[in-house]
Amino acid sequence: MEIERNFAIFADPCVIRVNHTINYMQKIQNYINGQHQDSVSAAFLDNFHPACGQVYSLIPDSESQDVEDAYQAAKSAFPAWKNTLPENRFKILNKIAELIDESNDELAKAESKDQGKPVHLAKNEIIRAAQNFRFFATASMQFASESHDMPGTAINYTLRQPIGVVGCISPWNLPLYLFTWKIAPALAAGNCVVAKPSEITPMTAYMLSEICVKAGLPPGVLNIVFGLGPKVGQAIVEHSGIKAISFTGGTSTGKAIASIAAPMFKKLSLELGGKNPNIIFADCDFEKALKTTVNTSFMNQGEICLCGSRIFVERSIYEKFKNALVEEVKKLKTGNPESPDSKIGAIVSEMHYKKVLSYIQLAKEEGGNILCGGEALHPEGFESGWYIAPTIIENLSYDCRTNTEEIFGPVVSIMPFDSEEEVLKMANVTEYGLACSIWTSKLDRAHRMAAEIESGIVWINCWLLRDLRTPFGGMKQSGVGREGGWEAMKFFTEPKNVCIRY
Ligand code: NDP
Repeated sequence: MEIERNFAIFADPCVIRVNHTINYMQKIQNYINGQHQDSVSAAFLDNFHPACGQVYSLIPDSESQDVEDAYQAAKSAFPAWKNTLPENRFKILNKIAELIDESNDELAKAESKDQGKPVHLAKNEIIRAAQNFRFFATASMQFASESHDMPGTAINYTLRQPIGVVGCISPWNLPLYLFTWKIAPALAAGNCVVAKPSEITPMTAYMLSEICVKAGLPPGVLNIVFGLGPKVGQAIVEHSGIKAISFTGGTSTGKAIASIAAPMFKKLSLELGGKNPNIIFADCDFEKALKTTVNTSFMNQGEICLCGSRIFVERSIYEKFKNALVEEVKKLKTGNPESPDSKIGAIVSEMHYKKVLSYIQLAKEEGGNILCGGEALHPEGFESGWYIAPTIIENLSYDCRTNTEEIFGPVVSIMPFDSEEEVLKMANVTEYGLACSIWTSKLDRAHRMAAEIESGIVWINCWLLRDLRTPFGGMKQSGVGREGGWEAMKFFTEPKNVCIRY
């Protein structure tokens, strides 16, 4: 296979493939010690364009030696980065934010091509990736620690020092956004990072590495190693010199990571799967609840950990809400992610596409009635892409597999309920506890429900409204620890108490 580098990132791979011309394939490289380089093995993995189901670039199939090289670079860079004045750290991280903003168009197109999401959605996510860097750039200037006076005896003060070299591992659904959500606070707190994006969506992480060079980030402060989770991800987790792991991904991967990291006494932040309830009471603002539920259910093809995949509607408005929702969802156009009309893009990978379709089949076997969707789509010009029609299912028991296992695609189920007690029982039945939306105009009900629902994040009369200062994360099998704001800065630092006797 002939490969040429650094051009035609955005050439249409469908066309490339039809012509059997693959010389224009972008080759991604690892970013270690400020340099771009192939993996030690010089082997590559295919990177797919989900809209067409075709290979369009190659990524390094890295190994533990690449992780070791990245670690050594990070270790060497740490003393200087740790001692860099906060205002100088701020300048570099803020510059990265500015450069991400300046490259919004290119990054959004690349993200869409890599992930399958519509470009207009990717543009918002790239803005949020820049905001992550800007937010934590300022945090590096504001971060302070406490002191505790023992009157007449002593004073304690807490040093919050960077941990050293930390590992950041991110998933494929919001690639640059979630990658920067981890890296930015780690760097702001003075750590050096060995990071791994998902092998399925590596492109914008690679582009970020070029931005870091331009922004003047010193070599070795951030290192990005591309490759497979069980090879590169696991090597990061197993490395004895990497003292903390911030991971976002599936619950089963989180369990595997915890089983390795916990006996090594590493700090762990795990942001895992979800099966979020969207609870609609009869006293809600119907139109707002309806409009938002379309997004809650299907934004980013339902591939957002915060999507509400179980819709509970109070019985008195159940039929009306259900019919209105089905009508709205049937209007959603699924297809070419580059078209401004497309509301739903392609599923990220063939494997995930098959998994989502298998859950639709399971729902049918469990007695589900498909109200709309329920099938793969083959939009004109994109026949070999991985598209699934937005699907709404009813008539499922609240505790069946379809309603308790994470599908992570454009598939939701809708169920009626009669009381607060009943809907709490139904909503809390899963092993997950990430997020929840509740629609009601009754303040006392909102407070009661928020207190009783088992999830780390509760939205009342809204969804996906995020303030970066707030704690972010899940309970039960949706995770351990919290990210966001000072929580993230505290995670990425080690508190040390110093007691001085008067
Ligand atoms: P995975 O758990 O499959 O992968 C996440 C990351 O971990 C990837 O970079 C993956 O690499 C890597 N990885 C895989 N195996 C290992 C291993 N043994 N050791 C170390 N790293 C490993 O998740 P997905 O990428 O499929 O993402 C979807 C999941 O993420 C869903 O469950 C979703 O709910 C969850 N998620 C949670 C969020 C939250 O905030 N709670 C936010 C977004 C998503 P590779 O891809 O290269 O194999």
